[in-house]
Amino acid sequence: MKRLSDPKTFQAQAMADRAAGLTTALVPTMGFFHEGHLSLMRWAREHADRVYVSLFVNPTQFGPGEDLDAYPTDQERDARLAEEAGVDVLFTPRHEDVYAADHATWVQVPELAQHLCGASRPVHFRGVATVVSILLNLAQPTCAVFGQKDWQQLAIIQRMVRDLHIPTDIVGRPIVREADGLALSSRNIYLSEAERAQAPGLQQGLKHIAALALAGERDAATLTKALRAFYAEHVPGGEIDYLDLMDPLAISPVQNLTGPTLAAVAVRLGKARLIDNLLLLDRE
Ligand code: AMP
Repeated sequence: MKRLSDPKTFQAQAMADRAAGLTTALVPTMGFFHEGHLSLMRWAREHADRVYVSLFVNPTQFGPGEDLDAYPTDQERDARLAEEAGVDVLFTPRHEDVYAADHATWVQVPELAQHLCGASRPVHFRGVATVVSILLNLAQPTCAVFGQKDWQQLAIIQRMVRDLHIPTDIVGRPIVREADGLALSSRNIYLSEAERAQAPGLQQGLKHIAALALAGERDAATLTKALRAFYAEHVPGGEIDYLDLMDPLAISPVQNLTGPTLAAVAVRLGKARLIDNLLLLDRE
């Protein structure tokens, strides 16, 4: 596995791979790898000739007071895990090599960023769309792989790539979970033992309302009320940031469920802000 930190060198490598007729896959990450990240790398390994992983804690997607400075890192362990997953290039740029001091260009998809994480983290998706644009311009990959855990992020990137005619296929992969259902996240290390014990309730609540929807409940307000009640009982330490039913592509609120509907939640448990989601009426 090659380790590159200079954007121009990474771009030259990617261009040479494409010129040699190889298919390439990019997996953008912020590091501190867990099975969720590794599942994306393994998918990429199976579907492309060359696999690139970027590891960059992108400052522009963190708002003031968020955990940019505390974000967990362990680059040597990450490099080992990436190599074991069959990654060809680990790209770890320095902040100042990604963003010039007078960086002035931003990519935004505001219509898809009004709700969910976009509402509670106002600059977040502008930072995400901008850094993913930069990474796609550097790697110009055949495909780029993202987790459905960050569903809104995936929807925004899919829309951005379509609207800007970027010649990369965006691939969304399922959420990888602990045995008890907690979605893997680099931020799970912030949880105390007591908080960790409540955290699986997030997914249990989503499954609970998925069952209600499947049994015929189509009123979004009734379902969100049921989810709130579930969390009050099973995740009593959690402070709900949002809990919404959305059109899965437009990321706009749904009043009545007429087809597959995204149930998305963000809950603060102690120092951790956990997100999870589930597609309701997925098989209808
Ligand atoms: P991050 O390092 O948190 O920016 O995540 C990098 C990529 O891994 C994103 O596409 C995430 O959606 C994805 N990811 C994070 N956690 C999981 C998970 N539990 N299952 C699947 N993908 C995940």
